[in-house]
Amino acid sequence: MLVTVEGIVLGKRDIGENNCFLDILTNEYGVIEAIAHGLKKAGSKNISSTGLFSYSTFCLNKTNLRYTLNSSEPKYSFFGLSSDIKKFSLAIYFADIIKYTSAAEQSGEDILRFLAVTLYQMEKENADLALIKAVFELRIISMLGFMPDLRACRICGEYEREKMFFSDDENDLVCGECAEEVSDKLTELSSVLLHTMRYAVYSPVNKVYGFTLNGKVKADFSDFAEKYILKQLGRDFKTLDYYKKTEENFYE
Ligand SMILES: [Zn+2]
Repeated sequence: MLVTVEGIVLGKRDIGENNCFLDILTNEYGVIEAIAHGLKKAGSKNISSTGLFSYSTFCLNKTNLRYTLNSSEPKYSFFGLSSDIKKFSLAIYFADIIKYTSAAEQSGEDILRFLAVTLYQMEKENADLALIKAVFELRIISMLGFMPDLRACRICGEYEREKMFFSDDENDLVCGECAEEVSDKLTELSSVLLHTMRYAVYSPVNKVYGFTLNGKVKADFSDFAEKYILKQLGRDFKTLDYYKKTEENFYE
């Protein structure tokens, strides 16, 4: 059966001289693995649409759950990423998260759209990668079913009080007046930090990167987002360690 899907290439592995496995995040079937034959032969017409992070339309031959690339047309290529090692390694970490968490044969439409928005944002010349990373981590983990409940204090229902805490046990909020009633491990959130977290989780995808942040609150937000996603997924990512190394080298 021939199927046509939209997708972004998340990974590429050579098999033999001319063939490749492609991991593609697709709108219809989530992350799939497709075999591409003859990709490295001179003049292969699929070469520009199957590069890492190419956003393309793929025509695939689907047999049971196996996919073979028939043809592809590029829609958009995130060229700006491959020339910058920091951007590229961050994109690889994002791809790793999606590959690790994706359920096969389920729609990947929302995640595909979010990834496209994210890569587009990263390509910009003055992209704030630390902020993009934190927003991506908190939003993607929310989309994957681990959304923290940031609506209001879970005891009294107050939206905001002078002091607000995040419960590391329940992944929700407790206000300063109710804090003594609970035995949860609580982390105090500044008003700006709580506002930022709410924005990253609840705002429309096309606007999710529409703010700037600096100083301590940016560091706190980054710290929160990274710890939260790693805790929910219960694992580490080598690609994250690698991205952090490129960050260190950057300041040397
Ligand atoms: Zn309360």
